[in-house]
Amino acid sequence: MRAAVLREGRMVCRDDVPDPVPGPGQVLVGVRSCGICGSDLHFAAHGAEVVSLSGQMGESLGGGVSVDLSHDVFMGHEFSAEVLEAGPDTETFPAGTLVTSIPVLISGKHVEPMVYRNKTPGGYAERMLLSAPLLLRIPNGLDHRHAALTEPMAVGLHAVNKSGVQPGETALVVGCGPIGIAVIAALHARGVEHIVAADFSAKRRELATTMGAHQTLDPAQGSPFDTVSPTVVFEAVGVPGIIDDVMRRARHGTRLVVVGVCMQPDTMHPFFAIAKEIHVQFVLAYDPNEFADSLRAIAEGEIDVAPVITGEVGLDEVGAAFDDLADPGQHCKILVTP
Ligand SMILES: [Zn+2]
Repeated sequence: MRAAVLREGRMVCRDDVPDPVPGPGQVLVGVRSCGICGSDLHFAAHGAEVVSLSGQMGESLGGGVSVDLSHDVFMGHEFSAEVLEAGPDTETFPAGTLVTSIPVLISGKHVEPMVYRNKTPGGYAERMLLSAPLLLRIPNGLDHRHAALTEPMAVGLHAVNKSGVQPGETALVVGCGPIGIAVIAALHARGVEHIVAADFSAKRRELATTMGAHQTLDPAQGSPFDTVSPTVVFEAVGVPGIIDDVMRRARHGTRLVVVGVCMQPDTMHPFFAIAKEIHVQFVLAYDPNEFADSLRAIAEGEIDVAPVITGEVGLDEVGAAFDDLADPGQHCKILVTP
């Protein structure tokens, strides 16, 4: 079958990938849509660093990222798919049912995050394996393209849940890439009355407004903190210096939720955070309930993900799509539809 793989830092399309065979508890599915995630772009460019930093944490983070970069790497964890065939002694939905799932594959007692893998294809492929107990049926008529946004939108929902934000508060979202947009959508769905979004890109600010931001600010025109005084700040940029800047400018008692993934060492002055008793919460991913809640919110129209999808490509165009996504103004989410 065909699959796009990461080979020497580039995404290339192969047509000789063996079809995966479902084991007990597993289901073979046909991928319908798979979103390209910023973390995949980052891994393509800086995979060795990701593997090295994960290695330093040992097995504590989801088993670490143990992948061999000298071999092809399968990626793609934001998918919707169609049930094709169940493994031995496995009950699941009838063939043809549209499903999604948290990106985790259970093989016997082994639980494997479906993020960067050498052996098993992910969502950038015609077919893949999923775990029968983790499958969620895509409800009544929801477009499989929209259902593929369940995963990235769940990241925003989780960050908002962790923040404890209340409807009457002012929330500032710094950075309106896919993660910032997911946070804005979740804040809007939560009924937060004053959502402020900051980004250098006019196009991203426009999308932020579409997704529920009440006010947008261009940091090139001055710090957002000169204009608003939020009680909750979401850092969705992930470059060095942002955390320190927020701590320097934020008001007393601010809750800072760090959802942007900064891979470099970063410095900050604890003095700012101490003087203002700032709460800092780093967040990652979501739990299975938040994932299911994200699917429900999309299916019930509480979150309209259509504006987030800015492109659609086939498996042979994944490499070009990775290049296009490097320009922050052009795209939010590109879907691969095999
Ligand atoms: Zn992702």
